[in-house]
Amino acid sequence: MAINWNTHPESLARELRALQINRFYFIYDPATKKVIPSHPELAEMAQALQADERDYAQHEGLFFQVSQNYDLIMSGNVHRTSRGQAAGGTRFWFYNRFEDFVRDGMRLSKGMTYKNALAGLWWGGGKGVISRPEGLDVRDPEVRKKIFQEYGSFITSLKGCYITAEDVGTNTTDIGSIFSKTRFVISIPEEVGGSGNPSAPTALGVVRGMEAAVEWKMKSSLEGKTIAIQGLGNVGRPMVRYLLERNVGKIIACDINPELVESMNQDFRETAFTARAVDRNDSSILFEECDVLAPCATGAILNPNTIPEIKAPIICGAANNQLEDSERDGPALLEKGVVYVPDYLVNRMGIVNCANEQYGYTPNDPYFNRHIGTEWENSVYQMTKKVLTQAEENQCSPAKAADELAEKLSHEEHPLFGHRAQLIVQSLRDTGWEQSL
Ligand code: NAD
Repeated sequence: MAINWNTHPESLARELRALQINRFYFIYDPATKKVIPSHPELAEMAQALQADERDYAQHEGLFFQVSQNYDLIMSGNVHRTSRGQAAGGTRFWFYNRFEDFVRDGMRLSKGMTYKNALAGLWWGGGKGVISRPEGLDVRDPEVRKKIFQEYGSFITSLKGCYITAEDVGTNTTDIGSIFSKTRFVISIPEEVGGSGNPSAPTALGVVRGMEAAVEWKMKSSLEGKTIAIQGLGNVGRPMVRYLLERNVGKIIACDINPELVESMNQDFRETAFTARAVDRNDSSILFEECDVLAPCATGAILNPNTIPEIKAPIICGAANNQLEDSERDGPALLEKGVVYVPDYLVNRMGIVNCANEQYGYTPNDPYFNRHIGTEWENSVYQMTKKVLTQAEENQCSPAKAADELAEKLSHEEHPLFGHRAQLIVQSLRDTGWEQSL
């Protein structure tokens, strides 16, 4: 029986359990350049991956486990490990089809390869996804603990080719549950030596990107400029403070949470900041007359419906995947004369904050601060200028220039371990990992 791409992850979990397939994989064989499936039932899916030109991108390994407790599927997606073990967070989210679940994992893990490479981190790119069942009460702490402990055991079984972390839909308690079952997780709780909330450093990284873009495009600083911010969450709030410290002229912000907006207006009264509460579908903030637009809420907000109305000459924000379709929307912004600073270039501080937490902490850590300083060649500031300059020279969008630079850097090998993590991936195939549960 062939397994169907279009199946809902909940149904697929039941089907696979009935077939006694509890773990399965698709591993890329560098010698034959073929996608090898773990089971004959997955041959069609392997062929679809092999033929896919959009998202597959020769992932070194895609690993899956069917939950033994709930109707859900867990994944560990290992894109490229030349720079080190694949590192990136795990998303806990709803998917209607297994294909969407797999594609999201692949897009996100390739994004982590690029983010880690541009940041100069000695880590490869990976991402985990857990399909969230519609009917399950995931607010129940016992349910969550069971899901994330099971996920931790799955991560242990991958022998360290993928290192997981917090992402959309997961929280520090969940990461604690994962950590109780595996050492291959970062962003662990602070009370057991973790690095804590990265949002303020993320905000500062984005502001550094803005400074570089404003200097590059306008030959001036942020002083006196107008900034529009969509979303006043963990990143948006500290961003306001960093911008006020730089004497911006005006900050216009919005959020869908009216209480949050009210408390921010209260906290920042008599400053250049004002915020308004909006409906989820209200995109008016994107169309403000401003110098920099900072999307800090959700992704896919730059698309054919919004781009024609945008007045900001520069877009630089924290939200992941701001371009709905990078091949279509990057060039559309370029044609309009808008400088789009790629999100993964400036929002790196989330992963930078936790990536090396096993190496310990020191105040004013120079290895951390260099990312948000202006000197180091891999700093957000320098990389932003480099990408914008290369885009101009090559007459392409900054998104394309950043991708090209990241692609090149992502093939550099770890100075001590080389491409060792790929050996781990291959060993899982050779040792019958798929039979291990
Ligand atoms: P968050 O959930 O704390 O904040 C998002 C805010 O946006 C919330 O206050 C929410 O109410 C608001 N919002 C949602 N939809 C909106 C809309 N349509 N219009 C206006 N406001 C809306 O998230 P965060 O940690 O601040 O992250 C913001 C973005 O940056 C996310 O896309 C996240 O993936 C990305 N990011 C965050 C970090 C980090 O360190 N936190 C790192 C890298 C990337």
